[in-house]
Amino acid sequence: MSTTDTTVVGIDVGGTNIEVGLVTAEHTVLDRAKAVTPETGPDDVLQTIIDLVHSLDGDPIAVGLGIPGVVHEGQALTVPNLVGWTHPVGLIAPLSDAFNVPVSLGNDANVGLLGEWAAGAARGGRNVLGLWMGTGVGGGLILDGRPYTGARGAAGEIGHVVVLAGGALCSCGRRGCAEAYAGRKSMRGTATAMVAAGRETSLFDIRDAEEKTKLTSKVWAAALEDEDALATELFGTAIDMLGVALGSTNNLLDLDRVVVGGGLAEKLGQDLADRLHTAAEPWMLQPSPKLHFVVAELGDDAGVVGAATLARSAIIAP
Ligand SMILES: [Zn+2]
Repeated sequence: MSTTDTTVVGIDVGGTNIEVGLVTAEHTVLDRAKAVTPETGPDDVLQTIIDLVHSLDGDPIAVGLGIPGVVHEGQALTVPNLVGWTHPVGLIAPLSDAFNVPVSLGNDANVGLLGEWAAGAARGGRNVLGLWMGTGVGGGLILDGRPYTGARGAAGEIGHVVVLAGGALCSCGRRGCAEAYAGRKSMRGTATAMVAAGRETSLFDIRDAEEKTKLTSKVWAAALEDEDALATELFGTAIDMLGVALGSTNNLLDLDRVVVGGGLAEKLGQDLADRLHTAAEPWMLQPSPKLHFVVAELGDDAGVVGAATLARSAIIAP
């Protein structure tokens, strides 16, 4: 059997880009393609996915898809970061029809952790939390050696663990979530308000060549490197609040590993994982010698490799 007889396709749908890859059983990405995520609703996103997959050089035996929303029984129930996804969208049927192979669907954070579990920093872990620090704060779980998605596919939302009752307003509409302090979108809002109140910072002077108007991970990393006082303070609060969420989560789940991913993890490396571990310890019932904090290894490939792993596990499952 040639390599192409066992390749699967992984699809990573993000708020900015859609990435697809042809992935081997050894988790190597043989071919890849990428396009900007359409902001014109599910039909155009589906068509973009179909075009991208057809552009790959190979015949996959299965297709897996990670999408940034609550996913249950083949439907994307809510997808807050994609424009025009206002109702549940069935994704399995149109993609199965287009590709004529089995299609599997998962939440992007869960799928990213699946990638790290198959081929990255979560390898060998039995009780793992994936923590993705990005525009928001996402999460995924492996429990007792299996991916865990919960009763309706919504498990792992470490970003919406409440760390301060009545605290800062979160993107989900509630108050005091970890994401309200540690998501880049929230941190930008806080920084903007503090500048308006007279604080000085270099945050808004640093330019990311690709994303001129946003406070990207690159901008935050540069401001922290420069020891910008406001950036250091806001980042310190983010770490502290994530520490509360992580410590409490560990009390509930007794984890052996926390994998920290996202743009900031790529920029700051193991130091970020170590800081989160230190911030979590005061909230743990007792220190756990089995618990390790590590940074993700696959970078942008985690989504594609994870979606491919999801596709493969669906066709080999009993
Ligand atoms: Zn929230």
